[in-house]
Amino acid sequence: MAKVAFLGLGVMGFPMAGHLAAKGHDVTVYNRTFAKAEAWVGAHGGRAAATPREAAVGQEVVFCCVGNDDDLRQVATGPDGAFAGMASGAIFVDHTTASAEIARELAGAAADLGVGFVDAPVSGGQAGAENGVLTVMCGGDAKTYAQVEPVIMSFARSCRLLGPAGSGQLAKMVNQVCIAGVVQGLSEGVQFGLNAGLDMEAVLDVISKGAAGSWQMENRGKTMVAGEFDFGFAVDWMRKDLDIVLAEARRNGSTMPLTALVDQFYAEVQTMGGGRWDTSSLFARLRR
Ligand code: NAP
Repeated sequence: MAKVAFLGLGVMGFPMAGHLAAKGHDVTVYNRTFAKAEAWVGAHGGRAAATPREAAVGQEVVFCCVGNDDDLRQVATGPDGAFAGMASGAIFVDHTTASAEIARELAGAAADLGVGFVDAPVSGGQAGAENGVLTVMCGGDAKTYAQVEPVIMSFARSCRLLGPAGSGQLAKMVNQVCIAGVVQGLSEGVQFGLNAGLDMEAVLDVISKGAAGSWQMENRGKTMVAGEFDFGFAVDWMRKDLDIVLAEARRNGSTMPLTALVDQFYAEVQTMGGGRWDTSSLFARLRR
């Protein structure tokens, strides 16, 4: 069992840290809004620290799951950041969905301190975090990764090293690109079927077993038809992720017309008041 810290007890971090405690790891938590850290300790035991640095002192692994690049920089670096508290040989594992650039930047800063760094964004959403069945995409060196993989598996169903620092974030970008296109296609298919007068519940039952089937169709098709868009991963987060994707695409020379278009569709959903709706709300845009 490891001595660990978890920084950022949001929708994802709170249950992820809970699984670490449930597996018997010795967990210290930090959250910017301290009341959440106190609530976590009330539910799971362990300790709450006032700063990332204080949380990180004496830990073997420091986990982090905050919002974006700037948030990550704040909790990792700076006088009260986690790096300032970590000893040589400790490892920082970042579960934030962020850019590959910041992963490389922090991996370099960590290496200067003798600290390991693994970028490890997740897929599986709130339900995956609560049930401890996330998919984790990792970047880093093989030796560091091997040390943290068994601890990460406390809240994951699958975890894999995909290359050097930044590779986890790049893989997560591929994940988001694939989701964006599929959700728009599904939305158009459902709209077409309804306009054609079909019983779309029945149609989805049939076609989800064939070549058109997808996770989105299985899990979001019928909720789209019902006009329900409160199933987790929010449009505001998706826009943050697609922003990261499109910036990376400009750097690596990828042509992403569909992704860029769907990003603009999500911007329209935001102006409809749907920033907190789930990503299947592309359908709501078509039904306005
Ligand atoms: P969330 O509920 O908004 O939680 C964000 C956490 O980060 C909170 O604990 C927040 O603290 C903390 N934080 C934000 N900015 C900070 C800063 N500058 N300094 C210190 N702490 C800061 O978000 P979430 O849904 O857990 O998502 C976290 C990350 O996972 C994001 O990168 C997201 O894209 C990714 N992700 C989310 C999902 C999902 O379904 N939600 C799925 C996959 C990946 P406070 O409590 O003080 O606000």
